[in-house]
Amino acid sequence: MNTAVTWPVLRNYIGNEFVEPLWREQSLVNPSDGAVLGQQAGSSNQALQAALRCAEACHKSGDWFSLGKGRADVLMKIADQVSLHLDELALLETLNSGVILRQTKSLIGLLPLIFKAAAAQLLQHPDCEKLGTAQAIQVWHKPWGPALCLAPWNSPAPIGAHKLASALAAGAPAILKPSEFTPFTSQRLFEIISSCGLPRGAAQLIHGSGLEGATLAADRRIKVVSFTGGLKSGQAVGQICMQQLKPVQLELGGHNPFVMLPDADLNRVVDGLVAGLTTLNGQWCRAIGRIFVPAAMKATVIDAFLQRVESLRIAAATDPAADMGPLVSRQHLDHVHATIGRLVSLGAKRHRSERVLPNAGTFFAPELLSGLSLEADDTEIFGPVAVVHGYDDVQGLSDRVNDTKFGLAAYIYGSDESLMYKLAQSLDVGSTKLNGVTMTSLSPNAPRAAWGVSGLGEEGAFETFRFFQGSSVIGKVSQ
Ligand code: NDP
Repeated sequence: MNTAVTWPVLRNYIGNEFVEPLWREQSLVNPSDGAVLGQQAGSSNQALQAALRCAEACHKSGDWFSLGKGRADVLMKIADQVSLHLDELALLETLNSGVILRQTKSLIGLLPLIFKAAAAQLLQHPDCEKLGTAQAIQVWHKPWGPALCLAPWNSPAPIGAHKLASALAAGAPAILKPSEFTPFTSQRLFEIISSCGLPRGAAQLIHGSGLEGATLAADRRIKVVSFTGGLKSGQAVGQICMQQLKPVQLELGGHNPFVMLPDADLNRVVDGLVAGLTTLNGQWCRAIGRIFVPAAMKATVIDAFLQRVESLRIAAATDPAADMGPLVSRQHLDHVHATIGRLVSLGAKRHRSERVLPNAGTFFAPELLSGLSLEADDTEIFGPVAVVHGYDDVQGLSDRVNDTKFGLAAYIYGSDESLMYKLAQSLDVGSTKLNGVTMTSLSPNAPRAAWGVSGLGEEGAFETFRFFQGSSVIGKVSQ
């Protein structure tokens, strides 16, 4: 374990007190070297019930919602406090997830902005708006009630913080359950938040697995659920919520297309492919999954990509010069190998570099597959692997690109802007980036939308804030 950071002790945060969780047998290890970081934590049913009681009591008392714009002051205080701990949080995220420090620093740097953006939403969109002139009609935007925020392991701090900050801005008491595999930054975040003046039960932290998540989601005291994660778990959470017709926001996976048009610059294309397959070590929802290249260029693109992979520094995530770290866990590495094995059995050919990887840790060098039919290529691998497809004609390309159940993100590379925009408009995806692959959205105000099985309901600074609220219209009936 790195000594430059005070390692947080996992504790549930219930009713404004830190309480011991249930300890699981499984250890949490640093994926860069296998060093034990701590034990996995879960929660007893008693702890879950206590958190639910506190959240309900906070909602019913109005202790948080009735602060009105005062909620923004608390969120701004959280932003200020978090900004004092950015290096520490980035290091924790890196040691726990294997994401390289350069990337966790930029992602953790978003945390204060996330809390400030939530505060700004609440100031711009008051809890009560007036409609009409002669007769004042009040449109209240009230929190549905206690909110559950379920976050995945691939970028735990920013995803959890966005949900938590948006729920709090909306006036909803929130329970955050991070992934059992990456709990440490959420723990530290709550230690920071605990000194910021939130009323009892407004923000709570529950450790545990999908079991704890499902128990909380199914409880009638939880009135709204925001989930980011994989398709299967998302469907399970969606089913639970639908039984009670509870609002649910699902941010799920993608199998995102990267389109190289015939006039694209090869070097830029390779830059984009490398970015798409190394960001978060290839484990991100907007990673590249399917690559469409002119058939005549297929071998050239694959060779150029593999040459570039040779020059990448794949090393411990704390290495300041690393371009890429390890996959998050042995379990996930096995999952990536198993998925590739299945695709090979369906006819895929592997294209791998010859490079040697570090001995310790769960490292995997980016690679490409080819030879799969579009029909067989409909799996989110969630690792640094993408499938190459050749095309002969730009006509009909959008049909091929759209031939998938997913619809999260797309990337188009080329020189003819009007052709790129035209193609982008025909794609059924939440966002399309032209001549670039970046982790951040095109604009902080843009909705983060999802089509097909990539999700339900849009995220975004405004969208997530409003998701936690329902409207209630009040006015005198004119005689
Ligand atoms: P999972 O679906 O396994 O888990 C997501 C969260 O939900 C975790 O906290 C998990 O707990 C919990 N959970 C799992 N099953 C249930 C259940 N039945 N009921 C309630 N809670 C449950 O996702 P991963 O952590 O593996 O994350 C990877 C996935 O997330 C990928 O598919 C990726 O594409 C997607 N993702 C989507 C994003 C988007 O914005 N669209 C952004 C980032 C990731 P635990 O982990 O402890 O089991």
